[in-house]
Amino acid sequence: MTSSSNSSARFPRISNHGVPTRCWCGEGIITFGSSTAENKYRRFYRCQIARDRKTENHLFKWIDEALIDEIRMVEAKHERVAQEITKFEERVIEKVKSEIVRVEAEMSEKLKEKVNLEIARVAQDMKQKLKIATVAMVVVGAIVGIWTSISVIGWLSSEFDGFKIS
Ligand SMILES: [Zn+2]
Repeated sequence: MTSSSNSSARFPRISNHGVPTRCWCGEGIITFGSSTAENKYRRFYRCQIARDRKTENHLFKWIDEALIDEIRMVEAKHERVAQEITKFEERVIEKVKSEIVRVEAEMSEKLKEKVNLEIARVAQDMKQKLKIATVAMVVVGAIVGIWTSISVIGWLSSEFDGFKIS
């Protein structure tokens, strides 16, 4: 029996961010343990078709690398949200300042004091609400990341001790 195909079992390292859910062939992803000496017990993602047809090109990704990717994605999202909040705060402060100038030109001294206090209170209130919104968004992002990690780590730690993501 002859075979023209390349018989070496290759692991294509095509970049795919985060934890993969599906191979590019359309098949769902499952996890396997490496049996090579250099990566003994190290887990990886692959589809069933790739396991059966070793010469074909299918998604391959180490689980530990996928988790680190996932954490970096959450961190990047956190950074973007924080930047947007800062910009929004700056716009609000600018608006409040211009409003103070306008009001001051129109109001009597007694009224000015009252209005300034109210503006300061409203600005403080808005800032507080923005902070709560940021925390909520970041927490949701982190939960998604952690949930994905836990489902794999729990499974990993049942496989062997001493596994650690650094
Ligand atoms: Zn596949």
